[in-house]
Amino acid sequence: QGILYVVATPIGNLADITERARKVLSEVDLIAAEDTRQTRRLLTHYGISTKTIAYHDHNETRLAPRLLAALDQGHQIALVSDAGTPLISDPGLTLVAAARERGLTVIPVPGPSAVICALSAAGLPSDRFLFVGFPPRLSGQRERWLAELGSERGTLVLYESGHRVVETLQALARVMGETRRVVIARELTKRFETFLSGPASVLATRLATDPEQRLGEFVILVEGSRAQGEVDRGEQERVLRILCDTLP
Ligand code: SAM
Repeated sequence: QGILYVVATPIGNLADITERARKVLSEVDLIAAEDTRQTRRLLTHYGISTKTIAYHDHNETRLAPRLLAALDQGHQIALVSDAGTPLISDPGLTLVAAARERGLTVIPVPGPSAVICALSAAGLPSDRFLFVGFPPRLSGQRERWLAELGSERGTLVLYESGHRVVETLQALARVMGETRRVVIARELTKRFETFLSGPASVLATRLATDPEQRLGEFVILVEGSRAQGEVDRGEQERVLRILCDTLP
């Protein structure tokens, strides 16, 4: 019986590939890649010449049965996405779920993922977090989506593109207010890696007025409502103390 490896690849810095990922990618029979040209560049960099096949959102349902048949015949296949960990806002669920259902062996080969990378260095609580992927593109839907997340107690982690990052920060300011800390992690592991933090509206203005800060890929992290609750309680206590001190 074959094996399906789910292999994480770098999110920017090519030195972030693991030794195990290189070994698996060079030894499998086939690499199912979200974008074969992008993966070919990566493989060439590591001196790997394994055959690739395109496996993406648009052919997932059509291609999954072919890959499952190859696995049934004993082939070893690696699944990779353009960057980071497959299935994390990336294709692969259809194949992995079907492979599991058939009782095939699915082996994760862990490595970079922007969500964990950002969380590890943002300085926001990381004991409890909710990863929610990309916000909806339409503004009404996006605000409703954010409103539903407003009571989440853990840190919220969102993915966003440079084209929409200002709009999303503005929506965050409108929906969640100004008291929560927000961190934007841009171009992680790359030359222009930047962490900016502050209230959503301040960050929105900063990015709106500085086009360079809108370039590249973004993770947005928002302090959860629990942490904010603690700030509020602190504020309540401060007000109470002032009242007590001033009362006769
Ligand atoms: N599977 C990937 C992972 O494990 O992180 C995510 C793929 S998703 C299609 C791409 C999004 O991830 C980008 O739009 C951005 O929000 C985030 N991302 C990926 N690489 C990043 C990086 N180097 N810096 C900041 N965000 C990144």
